[in-house]
Amino acid sequence: MHNTIQKIINSHPVITDGAWGTQLQAQGLTQGDCPDAWNLTHPDRVEKVAQSYVDAGSRVILTNTFGANGILLESHGLKDKTREINKTGASISKKAAGNHVAVFGSIGPSGKMLLTGEVTAVQLRHAFAEQATGLVEGGVDAIIVETMADLDEAKLALAAAQDTRLPVFVSMVFDSGKEKDRTLMGVTIEDATSALEDAGADGIGANCGSGIESYIPVTRKLRAATKLPVWIKPNAGLPEIIDGNIRYNISPETFTEHARTIINEGADFIGGCCGTNPEFIRAMTAVQKIT
Ligand SMILES: [Zn+2]
Repeated sequence: MHNTIQKIINSHPVITDGAWGTQLQAQGLTQGDCPDAWNLTHPDRVEKVAQSYVDAGSRVILTNTFGANGILLESHGLKDKTREINKTGASISKKAAGNHVAVFGSIGPSGKMLLTGEVTAVQLRHAFAEQATGLVEGGVDAIIVETMADLDEAKLALAAAQDTRLPVFVSMVFDSGKEKDRTLMGVTIEDATSALEDAGADGIGANCGSGIESYIPVTRKLRAATKLPVWIKPNAGLPEIIDGNIRYNISPETFTEHARTIINEGADFIGGCCGTNPEFIRAMTAVQKIT
């Protein structure tokens, strides 16, 4: 195991962070804004989100760079700022993290389909490599390729991130099929795990998707399929529209109860995706003490 990961995982389980998008919206980000661009235009507000997770007890926080690949940034007219947005996003999180919290640079999907020829493998590899370079320049400790549905895209991002020589985790969304154990593209947990393990991933996980309860069997299957660290970040239930606002109707306490089961099923890293906030992390850090 990579030294950086070994050090973090020595004290187990590792509580990571929660959602960033909703926290940025609370600070004024509106629909249609490019969240990643805020690293340059509103660094103070981005830092507030990072700091809120550090203060809640996260031992790993991510970076505000989920959509900061050149392919997505191009649609905001910001392609030429790719490296700067990633570098600044990384340094904002590092500043909030101090010496005791690790920063994993977030790389999300390109939003384009390889399968239909919307984008080529060469274009994807190049876009992810540029993003990873910026993240390294900003000082991240590791990279997390997350929210992936297409295994080929995930492998291209993994390979690009591995060129930095930092540890790289890959997390996919298993929310489809009768048992909610495959991605939208039909990739099973077992197929994803064996391909990503062969490709040299340092950790494998699942994030986003449907509610946290579905992560109990997902974690069990991931744990059975790999000896690598398992990374889990569920959503806070399924979103509902109440009075025109998106709401997630699960409390931090209920989320934490399920998180405890997920840890017992073998998750090494646990945090939250859409709908979670620092309150969820604070509730989970209590679990860390009693498991
Ligand atoms: Zn999510």
